[in-house]
Amino acid sequence: MWWSLGLTGYPLGHSISPLLHQAALQASGLAGEYKLYPIPPDDRVLIDLQDLCKQIRDHRIDGMNVTIPHKRLIIACMEALSQTAIATGAVNTVYLKDGVLYGDNTDVEGFLRDLDNLMNSRGILAGIGMKTKRHALVLGAGGSARAITYGLSENGWQVSLAVRRMEQGIQLVDEMVENIKPHPTFPMNVLLLKNENLSKWVMDRTGDICLLINTTPIGMWPHSDESPWIEGDPFPQFTFVYDLIYNPVKTKLIRQAESQQVKGVTGLGMLIEQARLAFERWTGLNVPGYVFWDAVKKGRYGHDE
Ligand code: NAP
Repeated sequence: MWWSLGLTGYPLGHSISPLLHQAALQASGLAGEYKLYPIPPDDRVLIDLQDLCKQIRDHRIDGMNVTIPHKRLIIACMEALSQTAIATGAVNTVYLKDGVLYGDNTDVEGFLRDLDNLMNSRGILAGIGMKTKRHALVLGAGGSARAITYGLSENGWQVSLAVRRMEQGIQLVDEMVENIKPHPTFPMNVLLLKNENLSKWVMDRTGDICLLINTTPIGMWPHSDESPWIEGDPFPQFTFVYDLIYNPVKTKLIRQAESQQVKGVTGLGMLIEQARLAFERWTGLNVPGYVFWDAVKKGRYGHDE
């Protein structure tokens, strides 16, 4: 069998997904390809997405990843959705499941798996006390914030949000209240990002908040000198900073944290885990994580700063 896999979104020029999935195909001994299907967000976007989905229906494409800006729009083309896709309102993995066009979201589990890896095998979180304290501060309230908030809340974490538009933060909380039942970790706090009161609020919770996650694009290459955290503001001790951005390799936010002896990582681990999960959904094969990490090392991805 020839495996025809791919990615849609726009623009796709810098995507490292082909590198990851080609390595997975090779490591599994499967013949196939992973192609890019850029679809611009213009008047034709829904027709183009429907055409692409028809190719999956007709078995001409076996698995499709979906990225910015189509993760929400593609839902209109689906015949069934996973519980995670419903709860987050976003689809990043499409395939034919039991004969129906199925939309799933592997970002949630990808993030949780990477967090678990960090706590266990990658050993980076040793000593931070993550297993007992469970309050996270999420920066941003867009698509990935929804995935992270849902994943953490489902796993018993208390989550607070720091956002630039209060109405967006409040809407996210309302959606979570709808989707997570029972929800013992509510109410969720919604605060303003880049506001002097945020740092005070966080410092008042030193020893409580143990995870700070950036889900905004602030600091993404080529704007690598920007950060969602006000310059000079302290980070609470014993907090771990997780920046979803994976290019540059080390973001300004992580450099700010490290300058205060606070540990952190960028989002490559999550990217790898969501890709691993998508590949497993399509092929049924669980490819070990090191295959993807090796591919990234050999491929020299991203900018240094
Ligand atoms: P999104 O849906 O557009 O959400 C972005 C959020 O950040 C929104 O709440 C947005 O607020 C806020 N924001 C944007 N610019 C801001 C600014 N200058 N100041 C304050 N807030 C700002 O995007 P997304 O899909 O969540 O992706 C966000 C980032 O996560 C991207 O860098 C993406 O590459 C990364 N990501 C990584 C992974 C991974 O596997 N590592 C997975 C998914 C996403 P407004 O609505 O007001 O603009």
